Amino acid sequence: MKRSLNFANKQPILYLVATPIGNLKEVSFRTIEVLSSVDLIVCEDTRVTARLLNKYKIEKPLLYMEKHNEVALSKKIINEIIQNGKNVAYVSDAGYPCISDPGQILVETALTNDINVSTISGPSAFLNALVASGLDSSRFYFHGFLEVKEKSKINELRELFKRKETLIFYEAPHRLLKTLETLNKVFGARKACIARELTKKHEEYIRGNLDELVTMENLPTKGEFVILVEGYNDEMQPQLDGETIRLMVNQMMEMGVSTKDAIKQVAKTTKLNKNYIYKIYHTN
Ligand code: SAM
Repeated sequence: MKRSLNFANKQPILYLVATPIGNLKEVSFRTIEVLSSVDLIVCEDTRVTARLLNKYKIEKPLLYMEKHNEVALSKKIINEIIQNGKNVAYVSDAGYPCISDPGQILVETALTNDINVSTISGPSAFLNALVASGLDSSRFYFHGFLEVKEKSKINELRELFKRKETLIFYEAPHRLLKTLETLNKVFGARKACIARELTKKHEEYIRGNLDELVTMENLPTKGEFVILVEGYNDEMQPQLDGETIRLMVNQMMEMGVSTKDAIKQVAKTTKLNKNYIYKIYHTN
């Protein structure tokens, strides 16, 4: 067991500083104070960090750390800089370091070497998204980015099916629709929210059920997105796959019902959105 009294032992500190997720005005006095006082700022991308520093007229040496040099550079920062009495701040491009961003290795290396680690608060995309989503914010599960390959993504989501907390995902713009479709496939018509471009000019919340979101016209595909999905409750059933849905529609049609009416009837029975059934039925 180890205790770290960060501000009492007069030892140098590694500060993990949260930075704006869009609007550069979202910094606290303390953020500016710490960034102005440290000896070195380690960052993910010097151009991104320079933009923030320039806005607040902070001039500090910058060192960029990337995934490929994270282990070696972390050791160097701890052994050659912090242990020589210098204070260091680490910032990622946006939000909190270590939250779907690098920083974990630096923190672990610091702690292994008994260096004080302290966090300077600021915005994080998933917290902004959660509190305004309208979904239950008393309990939540943050997942970050999902696997890219469809099969792995489905398996990952199936494991989350019975989690009762609000589920939170990050996603890249070009994968948004595909991921919404997969979420709908696994979770069904659960309540969901897309939080887009938070703190920026085009900030937008789209709240609806997953089946509505996947069939929505003009779904935005540009910007940064957080996806939130309602957690499990006992009334929720594991989802019907496309094959079962098509089978149900075909069975109705075999009884002489038109395609349109069969789709309507299956939507009613399954409590799924009729546009969604239509889309599934006409997709092989
Ligand atoms: N460290 C960051 C944090 O604390 O939120 C997350 C960094 S992660 C590499 C980037 C992802 O966060 C984006 O793909 C998006 O899903 C989400 N994100 C970041 N900024 C956002 C914003 N302004 N609006 C919506 N989502 C955002």
